[in-house]
Amino acid sequence: MTVLPYEEALAVYDPVLGLEVHVELNTTSKMFCGCSTAFGAEPNTQVCAVCLGLPGSLPVVNAKAVESAIRIGLALNCTIAEWCRFSRKNYFYPDMPKNYQISQYDEPIAYDGWTDVVLDGESYRIGIERAHMEEDTGKSLHVGGATGRIHGADYSLLDYNRSGVPLIEIVTKPIEGTGAKAPEVARAYVAMLRDLLRALGVSDVRMEQGSLRCDANVSLRPIGTSTLGTRTETKNVNSLRSVERALRYEITRQAAVLAGGGRVIQETRHWHEDSGITTAGRSKETAEDYRYFPEPDLVPIAPSREWVEQLRATLPEPPAAKLQRVSAEWGFSELEMRDVVSAGAVNAIEATVAAGASPQSARKWWLTEVARRANEAGVDLEDVGISPQQVAEVQALVENRTINDKLARQVFEGVIAGEGSPAEVVAARRLAIVSDEGALAAAVNEAINANPDIVDKIKSGKVQAAGALIGSVMKQMRGQADAARVRELILEKIG
Ligand SMILES: [Zn+2]
Repeated sequence: MTVLPYEEALAVYDPVLGLEVHVELNTTSKMFCGCSTAFGAEPNTQVCAVCLGLPGSLPVVNAKAVESAIRIGLALNCTIAEWCRFSRKNYFYPDMPKNYQISQYDEPIAYDGWTDVVLDGESYRIGIERAHMEEDTGKSLHVGGATGRIHGADYSLLDYNRSGVPLIEIVTKPIEGTGAKAPEVARAYVAMLRDLLRALGVSDVRMEQGSLRCDANVSLRPIGTSTLGTRTETKNVNSLRSVERALRYEITRQAAVLAGGGRVIQETRHWHEDSGITTAGRSKETAEDYRYFPEPDLVPIAPSREWVEQLRATLPEPPAAKLQRVSAEWGFSELEMRDVVSAGAVNAIEATVAAGASPQSARKWWLTEVARRANEAGVDLEDVGISPQQVAEVQALVENRTINDKLARQVFEGVIAGEGSPAEVVAARRLAIVSDEGALAAAVNEAINANPDIVDKIKSGKVQAAGALIGSVMKQMRGQADAARVRELILEKIG
């Protein structure tokens, strides 16, 4: 596959984005029946006549899902419809037993909103076209193929537990004017949305479990022109990092097609995490292909204005306002705050501070130890395997001098490897600093006796030379000593 280098592509073309995010709501029951929505159950154990689409079964709308939809719409500054309906979106796919999906078409519950995304200290206003309700499909598992796709598979299995789980689809208006930053803006938007949905308490927003999924649309047009180019839609990108990577790749691919005099084909594309490329899927259906019509088995939804206002009063702090507040509370410099935001660590730090750590120590661990491991594993910060409470616990162990910063890294390693809580890892790996003054004094004496030249330097007033002695003691103690205490002892002895 030919691609143009990213900088070259951006020198000629202006990317326009469109993001469709599907959010699985965390209601206990499904959108139109009473089946459980719990993740990870045995296949086909959370199903009934309604979500299996059996003839004669009738759907009933889940009120809690409507409430969540309205709250999401309000949080995105949308207008809430006074009256709206469900439609049938007709298409055949084995994981959708009715052969139509109950969705909303021309009458979404929330429309015409906006939200602000902050990236590198700059604010981008993202227009929201609509947020509508629909039901999720089941899941297919293709067995025997090399890639997990149906092509080349020996057989396929179907699990309808997810069929009928409430979904909200949030669709942006075309996002223009972001230039070379387009992939990062897209990532920042999805991250902001995830944080907002979590703050609303309406979804688990676990991208790796599929409760937040992003379809990323992008088109290119020559810089200085205003007509939109042909877009492609990369489906089900399931991490923040992949959103950015998939768009970056797709921009370079489309640029190569256009620069070569070709035409971009309107189609859905698949993102391949391992090879970092997208490949063609099906050519994109248009609305007519779906033969939408109003769902005759459901009554329209007409949320009263009083209810909408009651729900408005339950909204959490908007993400942009929250950033301003925490940045003041934590006393971070602009640069520090920028790093925190681009690492997606705001909530993690907030929770770590709430668990008792100082803002600076929380920032330090999330942006060094945890971020490094997230990068290595190619996952988002919260999927590394250590919680804010555990990070705060590590910091508390450092502060009460059970461990030092260096040993703390081994504690992170142990907790992430699933060896237990920080205290358990310290115990199991015997990491606690040796507080036996006798052992420490012996190591200090040995270092002093072995380095008379350094001792002379210290005696002549060059106190910084003590660093070499401290290093030698720490080495003897296998790092399990408190460096400040070692320094004290050395200076005491040399007098
Ligand atoms: Zn059911």
